[in-house]
Amino acid sequence: MMGLLTRDVAIDLGTANTLIYVKGKGIVIREPSVVAIDRYTGKIVAVGDEANKMIGRTPDNIIAIRPMKDGVIADFDITHAMIRHFIRKANVVGILKPRVVVCIPSGITEVERRAVEEAVMQAGAKEVALIEEPMAAAMGAGLPVKRATGSMVIDIGGGTTEVAVISMGGIVSSRSIRIAGDAFDNAIINYLKKNIGINVGDKMAEEIKFQIGSAFEGDEEGYFDVRGRDVRTGLPKTVQVKESQIREAMSENLDEILEAVKLTLEHTPPELAADVMERGIILTGGGALIKGLDKLLTQVTKIPAYVAEYPLDCVAIGTGKALDNIKEIIAKNKRHI
Ligand code: ADP
Ligand code: MG
Repeated sequence: MMGLLTRDVAIDLGTANTLIYVKGKGIVIREPSVVAIDRYTGKIVAVGDEANKMIGRTPDNIIAIRPMKDGVIADFDITHAMIRHFIRKANVVGILKPRVVVCIPSGITEVERRAVEEAVMQAGAKEVALIEEPMAAAMGAGLPVKRATGSMVIDIGGGTTEVAVISMGGIVSSRSIRIAGDAFDNAIINYLKKNIGINVGDKMAEEIKFQIGSAFEGDEEGYFDVRGRDVRTGLPKTVQVKESQIREAMSENLDEILEAVKLTLEHTPPELAADVMERGIILTGGGALIKGLDKLLTQVTKIPAYVAEYPLDCVAIGTGKALDNIKEIIAKNKRHI
């Protein structure tokens, strides 16, 4: 059934997850940014949750693609199809067309921005405006972005980590690095291969990160039974891995995130940096859930760091809040659609 009344819509087009927020309703879609296609015909077989379930469980001809993987659009057609699919599923295009705000990774190019706008318009939007991730994350975390005070947000997603200081509705200084959730997973894969002689897949690496991933030594050491294949024999094997080993595996990537935070602070005017020192740092995105990351940040920067209440939802909620200023954003984007 199609929605008869129009509702304004916010989309968080993340590298790992796409969320759709409908004004007056809240988040209605929360699915992985994954598309399954038939390698031979090029046809799309499934999108989102359904496509994700197929990974590793389908014949060789079906491959899963994450079109936004590295914070850039790897494939226009597939991204197009994915956006269309989610908008249809959200059931927001009725007789009246919705106005849509989309949050995009800040590293994407002008051409890619156009592609996103076009896909959203083709899916039945009346108007579309784009906003950048750190601003949406900060708004969603409830930071006072409009005030003349410095707020720092770190959003750690699948493909990118965005660090930004925001004041008076604008980004004062920021950095975007391609080190985030996927990089942690890859680091875990490489560590286990090199140090323990076991090969594991992407899903297992992510599961290990969920279970015993950590950034800071806690009171109790966690353990996890890792299933994979012996590097030498190729035979299935289960090995118990310690939290401290996974922390070591993740340490280089954690250092790079810390470095981005330091550089962002260095490029922040002193008054605003002083605000950040006082008010603290807010962590958003799925990566914010890494155990002890707040403690590590606090120890290294001497600034209190906090995990937002709903880190995975912040960007979608913040983009939803931006719907109230859609006209302003369109004007700011200087785009006439
Ligand atoms: P994006 O905005 O790029 O789509 P998300 O903010 O949705 O990314 O975060 C997805 C990333 O967060 C993935 O890499 C996922 O593995 C990671 N993640 C989700 N939950 C946790 C958790 N509990 N611990 C560690 N990492 C997590
Ligand atoms: Mg995100």
